[in-house]
Amino acid sequence: KPPSSSQPLSPQAARSLIDSVDAFLFDCDGVIWKGDKLIDGVPSALQALRSLGKKLVFVTNNSTKSRKQYAKKFTSLGLDVSEEEVFSSSFAAAMFLKLRNFPREKKVYVIGEEGILEELRLAGFSCLGGPEDKDKKVELKTNFWFGHDKDVGAVIVGLDQYINYYKLQYATLCIRQNPGCLFIATNRDAVGHMTDLQEWPGAGCMVAAVCGSTQKEPTVVGKPSTFLMDFLIERFKIETSRMCMVGDRLDTDILFGQNAGCKTLLVLSGVTALADLEHPSNDTHPDYYAHSISDVVELSRT
Ligand code: PLP
Ligand code: CA
Repeated sequence: KPPSSSQPLSPQAARSLIDSVDAFLFDCDGVIWKGDKLIDGVPSALQALRSLGKKLVFVTNNSTKSRKQYAKKFTSLGLDVSEEEVFSSSFAAAMFLKLRNFPREKKVYVIGEEGILEELRLAGFSCLGGPEDKDKKVELKTNFWFGHDKDVGAVIVGLDQYINYYKLQYATLCIRQNPGCLFIATNRDAVGHMTDLQEWPGAGCMVAAVCGSTQKEPTVVGKPSTFLMDFLIERFKIETSRMCMVGDRLDTDILFGQNAGCKTLLVLSGVTALADLEHPSNDTHPDYYAHSISDVVELSRT
């Protein structure tokens, strides 16, 4: 049962957390990095947990990159993390279609960026949209007919900094005219750190646009969905009671962990401040909170 209030991570709690957990699931933005900037103390914290034999998994809702592109980002920040340890919402979208046996002869229309397209191609799906449609325009005049490919059987919506009216019309026609068309959202984050100093509109606003025109609700495959958690459980075969989800957002990360029965740790190195956690309107409480992930290791040693 999730706690009704949160405790700061104490030295004793840090030791018991490390002892009772086999896998740490780390959110990325706000935990590992902020935009393109590494958060202080992360390399040594990850190294210490690895040397204790802990399994490390990185789970990000940012769909703009593929797992391969994330592995490059980790390397460029000096972190030794492989593609297989990264679970992005772009990868989750491709795995959702694969596990659903989405027919290979059907196509996927994408409002989103390269990360989604790359994961779909790697999983063997043919896709339309994405960056290719970034400069396309509609002609709103009499007798103009907007044609769309009737073989589209799924629409995936993620963060798209080049979203336009053409893409919205395309996705809307696919969903409204084919009642069997799947409507998948990589995530619904309201905002994200496209850069380190500021927040920017997240995939949630692109998803809301398509909800608005179709009056349909999507299946979310990123955090806090059970799809992604079930996928991780199946892949790693670790009991959720021996997993700890570490994140900076209550409504995605902490819920994601709690819904599955994982231990949860909120870090204050990202978008949530202690005042948000303690605000009377908040009812999502992690087991513990700490300043950043380096606290977990450092407190356990004191
Ligand atoms: N979506 C976008 C567009 C983002 O920029 C971010 C963070 O930068 C996120 C989602 C959240 O990513 P994460 O789940 O790693 O915190
Ligand atoms: Ca985050």
